Amino acid sequence: MPSDIPMKADLHCHSHYSDGKHSPAELLDRAHDNGLTHLAITDHDCVAAFDEVTGDSRLTLIPGVEISCVWGTRELHIVGLAIDPHEAGLTTLLASQQASRRRRIRAIAERLDSLAMDLAIDGLLPWLDALPCHALTRTHVADYLVATGRCRNHQKAFKRYLGKGGRAYEPGQWCSLPEAVQAIRASGGIAVLAHPGRYALGKRQLETLVSEFRDCGGEAMETSYGNIDPLVQRRLRELADANALYQSQGSDFHTASAQWTDIGRFPALHPGIKNAIWHHPGWHF
Ligand code: AMP
Ligand code: MN
Ligand code: MN
Ligand code: MN
Repeated sequence: MPSDIPMKADLHCHSHYSDGKHSPAELLDRAHDNGLTHLAITDHDCVAAFDEVTGDSRLTLIPGVEISCVWGTRELHIVGLAIDPHEAGLTTLLASQQASRRRRIRAIAERLDSLAMDLAIDGLLPWLDALPCHALTRTHVADYLVATGRCRNHQKAFKRYLGKGGRAYEPGQWCSLPEAVQAIRASGGIAVLAHPGRYALGKRQLETLVSEFRDCGGEAMETSYGNIDPLVQRRLRELADANALYQSQGSDFHTASAQWTDIGRFPALHPGIKNAIWHHPGWHF
């Protein structure tokens, strides 16, 4: 049932099962403390959070995921909301993505060793094994490089080693855009193009992406997220309207130690808009 009540909803954040720093229960507490009524945890290629928490009388938890995929030479993120986290096809896809993540981290460790970053493999891999995480990311490698004094901060770790053009860069081997969208839909979920302003696309490229996303079954896009530029936001709203896509919102919160971000902190969708994602006919929260 579509709801008429304006949602206080954050529909994009990460727990320690991917590259967030907090447990699912801590995320729920923080969302409640920040006055939210609805929270979607959307870990990278992972749904382990929903084996642990189900929401409670204070707050509705919406099962979600953020799937990495390739689109041409680029890497995109597709959020799935209101998914069935245990649906068979989605489970298979996420297992494959997680295996790909493990292979990528191993390749990065080998590159770091070849750069005379002594014992990167012997030190990094056991260090990662001790984490609660199910979906390893480059953020975890950056954490290790900072924790062991090899880099001063995350920005430097990405610029020097892990980001595109970095000395230990290893591209991700992800599913395609249509595969990500179809897996989300087959699990009963709504496919949402995540943070479309963060892909460094020109005007035409962004238009092409949004229409290809819609043509392969995408139904919504994020038009509100942390630190979004107001001009970009206006452009994204126009694109959502022009492509008959629902609009979604979320902080992309990862950690309380980054003070510029918090659960619920982003310019919220206007409560009156007709194509907010909670008006989607499949929305039952
Ligand atoms: P991965 O999914 O392994 O490619 O890791 C991507 C994650 O790394 C993103 O979700 C961000 O949380 C983080 N990330 C990407 N680029 C940077 C950067 N330049 N500085 C800090 N974190 C980054
Ligand atoms: Mn992340
Ligand atoms: Mn993302
Ligand atoms: Mn995210």
